[in-house]
Amino acid sequence: MEKPRRIWVTTLLFSITFVAMVTLVPWYGFTHGFELREWIVAGLILMFNGTAITAGYHRLWSHKAYQAHWSLRLWFALWGAMATQNSIMNWTSGHRRHHAFVDDYDKDPYSARRGFWFSHIGWMLRDYDPKAGDFSNIKDLQRDPIVVWQQKYYVPLVLLMNVGVPALIGFLMGDVVAMLLLGGVLRLVLSHHFTFFINSLAHIWGKRPYTDKNTARDNGFLALVTWGEGYHNYHHIFQYDYRNGIRWWQFDPTKWLIYGCSKVGLTDSLKRVSDYRIEKARIDMQYKYASQKLTCQIALQKLEEQYELVSNTWHDWNKLRQQWVEHKAEELKHNWESSELHKQYEEMKSSMQEQQKRWQLARAGLLT
Ligand SMILES: [Zn+2]
Ligand SMILES: [Zn+2]
Repeated sequence: MEKPRRIWVTTLLFSITFVAMVTLVPWYGFTHGFELREWIVAGLILMFNGTAITAGYHRLWSHKAYQAHWSLRLWFALWGAMATQNSIMNWTSGHRRHHAFVDDYDKDPYSARRGFWFSHIGWMLRDYDPKAGDFSNIKDLQRDPIVVWQQKYYVPLVLLMNVGVPALIGFLMGDVVAMLLLGGVLRLVLSHHFTFFINSLAHIWGKRPYTDKNTARDNGFLALVTWGEGYHNYHHIFQYDYRNGIRWWQFDPTKWLIYGCSKVGLTDSLKRVSDYRIEKARIDMQYKYASQKLTCQIALQKLEEQYELVSNTWHDWNKLRQQWVEHKAEELKHNWESSELHKQYEEMKSSMQEQQKRWQLARAGLLT
């Protein structure tokens, strides 16, 4: 079968910038040298580009995980154009199809089933996607004037941001070429591939603690270079959550940015999936993995028993917590410490800890 038409703009863009990165950047570094402050500025631009994609293109526009003030949306539209990953409209339309048809060979525009190269970059090099440019799944975004504006002026914005901004900063700092190479070329190639890893590596390498219905993986290492998007297994099951790394110790600067902005009124309506639903998904997967591993009948029976218990306890715990939240609002009126609810709460907390231990033993086939 004949291959689809090559897209020369992307093919040349990716190859020329890559070749320039491995030749011109080291050459200039050895012959003229780069200053620390130039590295820092390039790093900052990389961060603005990356988070415009993760917080803006991805969590805001593709998934509507929160709402943002127009000034923040404008910021994301500008630095997002600089990231040169297509306009907000094209990006989000493709991404919504990626979620709706994840892993489908034809309908997922960057299906991981078609291999590392295709899902990383190959999908952009030829005209593979028959639905490209079909914006019927982003009607909501067509009402956002900033999105419409970025679509209209995308190419001039890309050029202005990629050439104009580094050149201006370089002029102010005294070395235009150095900034064009570090803040232009090197930053663009890194920014590209860090994002592309989410479509390729985050669907290949890592764990699946929440669902095995698709290829998406949780990978803490990838989170480090993707501004928190490495927790991709969680993201694919709960895509409307503004968080990807839900634990406090998980590296998700995009989540911190969105949350931080909510404190100064730049973002609001942050969506979170309830702890109960998250924990239920995790327990279900733990049960599935353990039952595939265990062979002894008694161990399997124990696992089944503990699964019932632990699921029910989580359900009750969730109910109690809801009551507790409501109760806390009236805390001043009532004496919380001596209340019946508080006693129940404390009892349940300690029985949950016991139960967690039994659940772990049952999963390892050690409960007799
Ligand atoms: Zn994905
Ligand atoms: Zn997504």
